[in-house]
Amino acid sequence: MKKVVKFGGSSLASAEQFKKVADIIRADKERRFVVPSAPGKRFSDDTKVTDMLYGCYRLAEAGKDFKKELAAIEARYQEIIDGLGLSLSLKDEFKTIEKNFKDKAGENYAASRGEYLNGIIMADYLGYEFVDSAKVIRFKENGEFDSEVTNEILSQYLADKKNAVVPGFYGAYENGVVKTFSRGGSDITGSIVARAIKADVYENWTDVSGILVADPRIIDNPEPIDTVTYRELRELSYMGFSVLHEDAIFPVRREGIPINIRNTNKPQDNGTWIVESTCQKSKYVITGIAGKKGFCSVNIEKEQMNTEIGFGRKVLQAFEDYEISFEHVPSGIDTMTVFVHQDEFMHKEQKVVSAIHRLADPDAIDIEADLALIAVVGRGMKSARGTAGRIFSALAHANVNVKMIDQGSSELNIIIGVANEDFEAAIKAIYDIFVMVQL
Ligand code: ASP
Repeated sequence: MKKVVKFGGSSLASAEQFKKVADIIRADKERRFVVPSAPGKRFSDDTKVTDMLYGCYRLAEAGKDFKKELAAIEARYQEIIDGLGLSLSLKDEFKTIEKNFKDKAGENYAASRGEYLNGIIMADYLGYEFVDSAKVIRFKENGEFDSEVTNEILSQYLADKKNAVVPGFYGAYENGVVKTFSRGGSDITGSIVARAIKADVYENWTDVSGILVADPRIIDNPEPIDTVTYRELRELSYMGFSVLHEDAIFPVRREGIPINIRNTNKPQDNGTWIVESTCQKSKYVITGIAGKKGFCSVNIEKEQMNTEIGFGRKVLQAFEDYEISFEHVPSGIDTMTVFVHQDEFMHKEQKVVSAIHRLADPDAIDIEADLALIAVVGRGMKSARGTAGRIFSALAHANVNVKMIDQGSSELNIIIGVANEDFEAAIKAIYDIFVMVQL
């Protein structure tokens, strides 16, 4: 068996956390390939090293003095090195970084040093080989990640290695210029490495014991999810779950490699398994509840709309012309509603309204703001009778008015539109009816 283990920033924020990480790695010799993030926050109002690097580089780019800021970053690493009792020195590395900052090597280069340096420390501490991700993770000229070239280079490079540390978050163009993924991108690196070595498992170690059924800011101590499918997670992530970087699913998904989300501070917990498919029933019919506030509905009415071929296309054309993406389009016989993000739509609303009039000639258009969408997601809902009934009776009991309902034919999710102010009450009501009654 081969495992890739990725550790997030809070798991590597201090020497004490590094020790926990090393214990986890040493406890299982199959944990052969390690992907570290940059040091994260040590306490709640601490600053992540990545953010320190961005700040420091902004000064360098503006031609201002950045010595103090760079020294503060160096001190963060030195604290870890000292705490681990290593004789490693990063002095030369920091000299190079200072020079490259002065030469304006770019924001991507600057941010990537967080993972690069943490990788050097991790490799030294574990006695593993350090692999600079700039050599093995490739971006195309247009800035997109080059998955196939990377997979070729990386699988060859790691083929005969017993162990290695591959820092997260960055790679490089063919010419060697460093490029990072978007924030939180070390999750993607972990997934890329797992694919390249055809790992049996991609373990993603963080500071929570897996993915929770609902947002802990709304529900007190929500239950963790044991197993979630890639598709369910995609629905939940889209609606606001943020345990894993969205793009981290793709590389492992191609190979059918499961992801196991684990807690560095509670390694005894099983965490959450993210899998392609499973015959394991989810514990509560539903797998998770997610949602977002800040939507608008644009309600379009036209008598005999149902007989007019092409009406929907004309309406949606108006949104496309102004580059507004739509979320959901529920429809009635003579009405059609388009849900859009309020902040995207707000500044263009009158233009879109006149475009709809011009293109589709409706009788009336009515806009409603401050709406929230809630996704109730679960493979267990498929062919389970009464799920929708339970949701809506729970919402009625909680005095929540349902403005929109949308169930895809996959039966994997039910989307509900409510007023922003009913958002939390609605999530609580749904959580209670499916989870609390079963506990
Ligand atoms: N260090 C980077 C960030 O803060 C990447 C990561 O941690 O995944 O976004």
